[in-house]
Amino acid sequence: MDKRRLGRTNLMATQVGFGGTWIAELVTQKATEVVRHAFDLGINYFDTARWDGDSEEKIGEALQDVRNQCIIATKTGNRTKRESLKDFTVSLNKLRTDNVDILQLHGIDDEKTLNKTMSEDGALQTCKHAQREGLANFIGITGHKPRVLAKAVATGEFDTVLIPLNVVTPQALEELLPATKAHDVGVVAMKPLSAKIANLITCLYQPSLSLISQETELKTLLGETAEEQVNSALRFVLSQDVSTVIPGLRSLGEVEIATKTGTTYKGLTAEEQKRFSFALGNYCRDCGLCIPCPEGINIPAVLRFQMLHDNYGLKNWSRKLYSGLEGKADKCNRCGQCEPRCPYNLRIEAKLWKAKQDLVRESQ
Ligand code: SF4
Ligand code: SF4
Repeated sequence: MDKRRLGRTNLMATQVGFGGTWIAELVTQKATEVVRHAFDLGINYFDTARWDGDSEEKIGEALQDVRNQCIIATKTGNRTKRESLKDFTVSLNKLRTDNVDILQLHGIDDEKTLNKTMSEDGALQTCKHAQREGLANFIGITGHKPRVLAKAVATGEFDTVLIPLNVVTPQALEELLPATKAHDVGVVAMKPLSAKIANLITCLYQPSLSLISQETELKTLLGETAEEQVNSALRFVLSQDVSTVIPGLRSLGEVEIATKTGTTYKGLTAEEQKRFSFALGNYCRDCGLCIPCPEGINIPAVLRFQMLHDNYGLKNWSRKLYSGLEGKADKCNRCGQCEPRCPYNLRIEAKLWKAKQDLVRESQ
């Protein structure tokens, strides 16, 4: 499989890597088989986290004898120096290694959290300590808000950034990826197969936000079979300026499909370029700065569903997704509080009104 340079770390990561979240759901033997199968088929980048159940333990067991041939990235979700240091000690133990390639700050989704982790008593100090002691080679940051991560990247403290990116979640392309390029920061793309929508937690939302679906519209966008859909979704991400994409893998078959895409990808076809070119216009960047709304409207989610409806033509899917949303647009009383908070000057009230027409009325 082709490898790509991971920014200024100069590590060479396989263009498809391994997202370790879901192996926590598998029994240990199955999980280690899945991880090892990925290594045997050529994957060298493995991402895990202290927060991801026993994922570290399973990756540590599966890769113990080939540790030096792998890039292992883990995360601490604790925000203070003291607590994150405890976390990291556990991580090294679980991963059965005395050094990780990348230690990342996990889930930095707002500026307050960013500032806290970067303070004198913050978790960044643990990463720096680990680096000085030779326990971690590089420092990374992860989160879901491109605007926040772009600020983090601009501080010069981070060597890598882990972000959601997929065919209907392109927000990172606008301001974050140019920032990573300017600072030579490596980009790892997560959630390539699911549509993170605002503050909805992908795996818990109903109806499903997964792009791998029997929905006719998603089949038209990505392909008829699950294998074709995974292939298309990964190829879209690989066509962007990222170092590696890490789908969460939980079976031998999923590993085979993902590695096949990774080994065959050489660039998008002309037909794919056309299929994946969307006119996004003035769309919601999912920064979340307009909320809370006094009426409890989930503005970013409503606007994302509207974007799926208008910009991607995923009309039925967007209506289904909207049907499961709490905090719908119809509660808006036009109080005017949200629009001044939007850094992109979106006409939120008008967009909510349109969403009410397109998504509520037609879904009933
Ligand atoms: S204008 Fe509507 S959406 Fe905006 S804050 Fe007021 S009630 Fe909420
Ligand atoms: S409407 Fe504006 S402020 Fe609200 S999430 Fe979208 S881009 Fe951000």
